[in-house]
Parts: sequence; structure tokens; C-alpha cells
Amino acid sequence: MSVTRMRDIQELNRLERDKKRPMCHHNDRVYGDCVCPNFAMDGSTIDETNLLMNCGKTLTNWGGCTAGYYRSRKYQGAIGTRSFATPGKFYFEVDIKFTIYRRLQEKLLFEIGIARREETERNRTVSGSKYGWVVCASTCSRCKTICLQTLHHGKVKRHKPLIPSWDPGNSCSAKMGIFIDTKAQQMVVIDAKQKSSFYRFKNVDYSQSLWPVFGTYNSGCASVELTTRTGSDILVPSIYFKE
Ligand SMILES: [Zn+2]
Repeated sequence: MSVTRMRDIQELNRLERDKKRPMCHHNDRVYGDCVCPNFAMDGSTIDETNLLMNCGKTLTNWGGCTAGYYRSRKYQGAIGTRSFATPGKFYFEVDIKFTIYRRLQEKLLFEIGIARREETERNRTVSGSKYGWVVCASTCSRCKTICLQTLHHGKVKRHKPLIPSWDPGNSCSAKMGIFIDTKAQQMVVIDAKQKSSFYRFKNVDYSQSLWPVFGTYNSGCASVELTTRTGSDILVPSIYFKE
């Protein structure tokens, strides 16, 4: 066999091997077959009502800044710098803080999720989209307080009270994990403090890239802060949970 042919075979073997590996970039952290991708929020996509701090890791609903160059015309928040498409398992977390200081004027406080890029052009939130899967904090008429809710295509999948009351003065500190399994077509929302599963979305369509999205709302009535924990920020992914 010629040297060139040998090299071709070696190259083909390498490509085959790489295909089986999870997507991995510099500064990603890998646990078994799960990748904690290193990414931040993209400042060029930020809405003018938001402020991005801490090297693109912290988004607030206050402050106001010059809107980013690639800002969505509608979405009220920011989009992550990496999308999920390659077959694999991925995990990231978000620290959440909010304080209510005035009677809320709109339902939503924040949303975290994944969506096709074009869905962020349609609305302030992607929770009503066919290609958007989110966890959010929203006032709930049934629970008469603020609930943690999972939504897809406008339908609430699960809701659970997050704080005892929606009156001014109440605040919340939480940590949510997002586990993505493109092959199993799932996205699992995890309470990363309790290390328990909150909701498992099935039949998530990963046939096109899905981008992490972070929305913050109600700026006149509450302060909301979302901080991403990605890559080496994550010591151990909270994916080994009881359901
Ligand atoms: Zn509720």
C-alpha cells in the first residue's frame, strides 16, 4: 500500500473518530459523554433595555445600554455565543436573582431556554414558538404568586410556586441547569440547587441549530439578573438526579 493511501486511511479513521466524539472546543469541560460548553451571552444581540456585565456572563433587566449591532428586533434579552446542533449531551447552568419592588405590570420576569435563531425575531419571548423550549418565572393566576414554568409552543407544561407571594419586597435566588441531549431529542430543566429534575421536554427538534436564549422583563417593577455558569464554572453537572 502506498504511503499516500495509508495517510488517506489514517485521515478517514481520524474523521470517523471525531464524529463519535461530542462537540468540544477550547475551555469546554467534559464529564464522561457530557460536554459543559464554554460560552457567554453575545453582546451584539443585546436589547437596549438590558445591560450585559461580567464578560458577557451576567444579564440584567436594568441599566439600559446601546443596543447590540446584531440585536433581534423583538427579543428582550440576549442570545448565547454557541448553538447546539452536533449530536451530543450538553449542560449549562444559570444563577437567577430577582427582587420585586413595585406591583408587577407584566407577567414575565425572566426566561431561559433554547430556540431557533429566527424565532427571536418574532417576539419578546420564544415561549410561544414551535421551535422554542423555555423555563421562565411568570405570575400565575392559579397559584396567585410567581411560578417557575416550563413552556413550549405557548403551552405551560409544568408550573410550581417559586416564592410565597408576588407582593413588592419579595425576592428569589435560584439556580437552574439545562441538560441537552440532541440524540434523545430531549431538554431537561434541572433545579441545580436541589439537584432534581423539574421538567423533561421530549421531541425537541434539533434538526437545525438551537441557540441558548436569555430574556429579562418587568424592568420598571423588579430587578432581574441572570448569570451563566458554563465550561469550567461547572464543577459537576447536576445531571445525575432522581426523578
Ligand atoms: Zn402556578
